[in-house]
Amino acid sequence: MLRVEGIHKSFEDFKAVSGSDLTVEAGQLVAVIGPNGAGKTTLFNLITGQLKADRGEIIFNDEDISKLPPYEICRKGIARSFQIANIFPRLTVFRNVQVSVLSQQRKSVKFFRPARMLAVKETREILENVGLAEKADAIAGSLAHGDQRTLEIAIALGNKPELLVLDEPTAGMSPEETGATMELIRRLADSQGLTILFCEHDMEVVFNVAQSIMVMHQGISIIQGGPDEVRNSARVQECYLGGA
Ligand code: ADP
Ligand code: MG
Repeated sequence: MLRVEGIHKSFEDFKAVSGSDLTVEAGQLVAVIGPNGAGKTTLFNLITGQLKADRGEIIFNDEDISKLPPYEICRKGIARSFQIANIFPRLTVFRNVQVSVLSQQRKSVKFFRPARMLAVKETREILENVGLAEKADAIAGSLAHGDQRTLEIAIALGNKPELLVLDEPTAGMSPEETGATMELIRRLADSQGLTILFCEHDMEVVFNVAQSIMVMHQGISIIQGGPDEVRNSARVQECYLGGA
């Protein structure tokens, strides 16, 4: 579904991503791991068009998307969440997701019915899927941190993505919230057949859920493989664990 090849991105003289490869097969749950500063967020920003690559290819469903603006990449079927939660804090949980569903359906301005009557069923379904249905009427900004991050995933789901890209979905979470979020991600992949790409700095979090793991170190992808292959790689232990 997605193939990133030899991607490079520098900020002035600093090479944030300098030769990174990544493959995501349809239906897979793929993790990118690497310490802070490894280039994970930059890589995700390149995939979803927030940044443009200096060189390299990004092929999504056989099409080069590396020159497209973010909204076109989103329309092609890649939705994402950010490392720092991006929600409408003063709207209700329900409205946050409804806006996203409506934008995907491109209906918001064409209908004479009040917008709040639209896409109610789809919005409810998404909230039920992520476990936020009971908080539908809460003001988004008043939710606990973990719930705000879950809401962000719900907003991304409103775009009906083929590929869901999550930048550190468990950042800043308690161990309980982290467990619940990883469970949610696993469930979305299993029950909805969604293809999910996420990144994490904490290795422990990914090994139970990801089918394929890519390890990034100083802007370079050093390996991609199944959990066992990655765990046993001498190169990974050297780079990532500092030889520990
Ligand atoms: P990660 O998400 O793996 O922690 P990032 O992709 O955020 O890593 O950052 C990789 C490196 O690139 C870091 O050293 C960071 O400081 C640098 N970097 C990221 N964005 C910018 C930017 N806009 N300008 C300059 N340096 C940046
Ligand atoms: Mg990051």
